[in-house]
Order: sequence, then C-alpha cells, then structure tokens
Amino acid sequence: MRRRYFCPVCRVEVTPQTIKTYAFDGSVIEGVYCPVCGSILEARRKVVDEPFRDYRVEKGLYVAFEGIDGSGKTTQVEKLVERLEAMNVDVVSVREPWLDASKEILYNYRIDPDAEVYIFAADRIILQREIVLPALRGDKVVVSDRSFYASLAYQSSLGASQEFIWAANRWIKLPDIVFLLDLPVEKALERIKGREALTKYERIEFLEHVRRKFLKIASEVNESRFIVIDATRDIEKIAEEVFNHVIKEIEARGIKRR
Ligand code: ADP
Repeated sequence: MRRRYFCPVCRVEVTPQTIKTYAFDGSVIEGVYCPVCGSILEARRKVVDEPFRDYRVEKGLYVAFEGIDGSGKTTQVEKLVERLEAMNVDVVSVREPWLDASKEILYNYRIDPDAEVYIFAADRIILQREIVLPALRGDKVVVSDRSFYASLAYQSSLGASQEFIWAANRWIKLPDIVFLLDLPVEKALERIKGREALTKYERIEFLEHVRRKFLKIASEVNESRFIVIDATRDIEKIAEEVFNHVIKEIEARGIKRR
C-alpha cells in the first residue's frame, strides 16, 4: 500500500502523486504532491551513486596553468617540466583540448556555448581517463596547459551557466594547484600578434571579460589551490616562483623521485 499523506489545504488524507526531477548535479528530486489541490506535501533529494568513481585519485600532483592566450602558459609548462625532469621527478605534460576531433569542432564551427561545454567536458574526460588519472595513480606529476577552470571562465563568458558547466564536468578530477597567469589583455595580445588569425576566443572585450572571470574564480576558490601570478614579469622570475610552489607540494606529498 502506498503511504498516505495529510493535505493541510484539503484537510483530508490523500494518496499523493510523486514527480521525479533529474537535477544537473546528478541527484533526483522527488516531489510528493496532493492529487486534488496540487500542494507540495514533501520533497526529497536522492543522490545517485557515482558511475565514474575513478576520478577520485589522491596520489601524485595535478598542476594546471590558466590565463588568456598569450599569458605564457605554454612557456611556463615547458619551463616547469624541464626543471622537474632535471630533479628526476616523473612528469607528464598535457594540453586541453586534447583530441584533434575536439579541436576540429571547436575551432572550425560556430556552435552554442552549451555545446562547447559538452565538447570540452567530453575531451577532458577522455584525456583524464587515458592519461591524467593513470599518471596520478602512478604518483607522477601532471602539468596541464588549461583545465576545467578554462571552461568555467570562457564558456560562462560566452553565456553558459556556471551551474551547467560544473554539472557537465562532475566526473572530472580538479587540479590540485592552478597557476593563473594574469596580465592586461593588450599585453597578452601584443605577445601573440605574430600568430595567424585570431581565434574566436581572442577578441579584446571578450578577453577582458574572461580575465575578470578568472580573477573572480581565483578569489572564490580555496586559496591554496589557486595561485595568481603577475604574468607581466620576466619569464625566468615566473618560472622560479612556480617551481618553488610545486617542489614544496611535491615534498609535502612525499612524491618519490627516480
Ligand atoms: P600561451 O600559451 O598562454 O598562449 P605562450 O607561452 O605561447 O602563451 O606565450 C606567448 C608569447 O609570449 C610567446 O612568444 C612567448 O615567448 C612570450 N612570452 C611568454 N611569457 C612571457 C613573459 N613573461 N614575458 C614576455 N614574453 C613572454
């Protein structure tokens, strides 16, 4: 027998209607309603078991660089990898987006921001399951050019909602440390003006927006995870600061060297 509820509006006991709503975060909201007047009698939230638990790796160290194009991410990834390898640390370096198939869609077609969120999320899941997670399980250091936070800054600047971006990425592992290379947009564009045509992500006003978003995210996320770097400085100075943070973390985590 189904449980009966007392409806305070109709003032009688009723056999309620239950309506399930599937939420972005993977949970199911069960609303229990009076079949006569429609009043809500109870709401329950059920957390659905996670199908992809393997993103929960607590070993290794996952470092990401963020910042607008021209902020120096590629340069700093290379510097960090070089320095770590010189200290016999096992390093794997990656770059998002990872698959050529994803780049083909993202850079050659106009698609809406929600579709971009899905493509970046799918690309990231594949990269993590194929490369990042196995490396972390092997207690290695992963250095990544971009991460989930780039989706949060870029796709939300294009109009996707932050909740949706978090939800589409709920099976991914977040980086342990993020270096946000911050500098004025004109300076960044000045550095990359030699590059061929600017991509759709490289318009000035848009990049101003993305820069502010990144700074806002950094101020909201746990400080030890997000480190804002003044990227107008000399390449070697930045590399030194980054390396000092990373080596401290490697030691704190007891990551072994070769
Ligand atoms: P991103 O990967 O963020 O687009 P890059 O590392 O490719 O940026 O750097 C863009 C350009 O700026 C490159 O020519 C690089 O040599 C130069 N560059 C990088 N960092 C600095 C810096 N701190 N000062 C001056 N020029 C820089």
